[in-house]
Amino acid sequence: MMRPHKAYPVELAQFHTADYVDFLHRITPDTQRLFSNELVKYNLGEDCPVFENLFEFCQIYAGGTIDAARRLNNQLCDIAINWAGGLHHAKKCEASGFCYINDLVLGILELLKHHARVLYIDIDVHHGDGVEEAFYFTDRVMTVSFHKFGDKFFPGTGDVKDSGEREGKFYAINVPLKDGIDDNSFTRLFKTIISKVVETYRPGVIVLQCGADSLAGDRLGCFNLSIDGHAECVKFVKKFNLPLLVTGGGGYTKENVARCWTVETGVLLDTELPNEIPDNDYIEYFGPEYSLKIPHGHIIDNANTKSYLSTIKVQVLENLRHIQHAPSVQMQEVPPDFYIPDFDEDEQNPDERVDQQTRDKQIQREDEYYEGDNDHDQNTEDV
Ligand SMILES: [Zn+2]
Repeated sequence: MMRPHKAYPVELAQFHTADYVDFLHRITPDTQRLFSNELVKYNLGEDCPVFENLFEFCQIYAGGTIDAARRLNNQLCDIAINWAGGLHHAKKCEASGFCYINDLVLGILELLKHHARVLYIDIDVHHGDGVEEAFYFTDRVMTVSFHKFGDKFFPGTGDVKDSGEREGKFYAINVPLKDGIDDNSFTRLFKTIISKVVETYRPGVIVLQCGADSLAGDRLGCFNLSIDGHAECVKFVKKFNLPLLVTGGGGYTKENVARCWTVETGVLLDTELPNEIPDNDYIEYFGPEYSLKIPHGHIIDNANTKSYLSTIKVQVLENLRHIQHAPSVQMQEVPPDFYIPDFDEDEQNPDERVDQQTRDKQIQREDEYYEGDNDHDQNTEDV
């Protein structure tokens, strides 16, 4: 494990506009009533409320994804995880759907410094619209989103017909699904499409957004995946043995989100986890089973007929046929990473005898590896 840096405003502005980043930096719950025009302009307020320390929250989760990408670029690890990231709806100059800063876009931009082609896969129940939009005109990023589509479900985009434009034509893939899709249909479709995508596009690195609102019983979602079904997708992507950046995303039945990402951490680390959840400060959330795997909660009818799924699959594969070969990208000189100091002097508390970085190095468990002198395992460091 490692503590990522908090992303600097200038890093956030690699994708977002400087005025939007600046506004996020300045606005507080107490001052927001003075900025009603800007709140509307940047879509803050309703779905994306202004809360205490909002900007720092963005810096932390975006810093995690950026550092994950940098560590992959520098081959310091082969899989990097940031469960706090995956806020796929945020736009260049606008918040959307609980997302303020699009850490995925920032991470992918970082990966593009070292890789000719980046594959982005999204299994959140919602369309990965912010990431798709950012790379809609380029063939250097292929975005593949599996999501609920129709019935005015948020955000309303992600039709199978939307496949990218200009150089990006056929490099955006949308797999629109209906309510109640189950493990069997989802994983079969996922494996068929992703195999073909990897074979055709030949990415150098994969970014996997693991939104857990596609699980059965999610408060906002309407799919019927079990944790095992969700994790099966992660297992499948891992098998390609390509550098892999894994993030979280949505998830609104929080005890199941924690279960899902724990199981998936185990999958990514090739570690079998006991089903019984050990005693911890949050154990009461996990009753009455107190276990990682749980019986299916509310079952929604599967509205995805065999013929519907087959039509979608055929359309997606047809689009992929247009890409006969992976595009050859002229790689220019690799731009350098930002200079990131070891610690931020401004944030050092002079009254603290032992700073955070030193404390991090002291808290070590035998079965975990931290950045620092004692770190002998460079392969399984996670962000
Ligand atoms: Zn979602």
